[in-house]
Amino acid sequence: MAQDGTTGIVTLEPQQGERVRGVAAGLGGTADADLEITRPELLEARRTGDVGLVHSWELVTAVDGPGTRMTIFLSGCPLRCVYCHNPDTMEMKEGTLESVESVAKRVTRYRSVFNASGGGLTLSGGEPLFQIAFTRRLLKLVHDAGIHTCIDTSGYLGARLSDEDLDNIDLVLLDVKSGDEATYNAVTKRELAPTIAFGDRLSKLGKPVWVRFVVVPGHTDSEENVNNVADIVARWSDNVERVEVLPFHNMGADKWKRIGLPYELEDVTPPTPESVEHVREVFRSRGLTVF
Ligand code: SF4
Repeated sequence: MAQDGTTGIVTLEPQQGERVRGVAAGLGGTADADLEITRPELLEARRTGDVGLVHSWELVTAVDGPGTRMTIFLSGCPLRCVYCHNPDTMEMKEGTLESVESVAKRVTRYRSVFNASGGGLTLSGGEPLFQIAFTRRLLKLVHDAGIHTCIDTSGYLGARLSDEDLDNIDLVLLDVKSGDEATYNAVTKRELAPTIAFGDRLSKLGKPVWVRFVVVPGHTDSEENVNNVADIVARWSDNVERVEVLPFHNMGADKWKRIGLPYELEDVTPPTPESVEHVREVFRSRGLTVF
């Protein structure tokens, strides 16, 4: 466990315990002699959600949802956002194989902290819906234990969640990364339509949503793009409780270098406070609550 003393962020390393031992590379490579289960058993456990590849954990306050939250970062993401802060979670390469029961047990240990602060569990990544079987089971176990649950998602894989799964999710943090297909594709290398379809579905169900939009100078901050995103989100104004407009920062650059991927935003500087405020005003002009 490590605390940096300035942000209040506590990082909990995945610990020993009931986790399933093995190297993450074993998921896609040859069976490892160190594995306590055989490779076919491991693949079956991944299919059923008995185990998942957990990248890291944090206990955070006032980030990733209300109150004090355990944020669990799961490995794997279908998007390739040019500004990704966690590129080491894109591939199913880094992390620790953990059993769903042991992760749920570790989360429920913090129940009194969550209850006192109005917090709970947030599943992030990577993309938490990438390892859907593990995510589905973990959310049910934790939600059944009376803990508030949240997913931090791009919505790209939202169709993987059944309505029953959504009953185990109290809040969706939905990243709307751009407002038209061409810009969305340039920024994420994927399509926007699944995110809109997921947002429409959440709206129909009345599911609480916090929308997130990252202002990346020269990539997402054009007047047209911001207006397009605001128009999309305004359609969901009944269930969108807030919009968080976040300034791009360069803090993920070192991670891109470490994993040997080209980082396209080397020369991009963070947006000015005035330009971020301007984007917030565009959302406010649609009657939305903006932070
Ligand atoms: S969706 Fe999130 S984790 Fe995936 S590439 Fe984009 S920023 Fe990174």
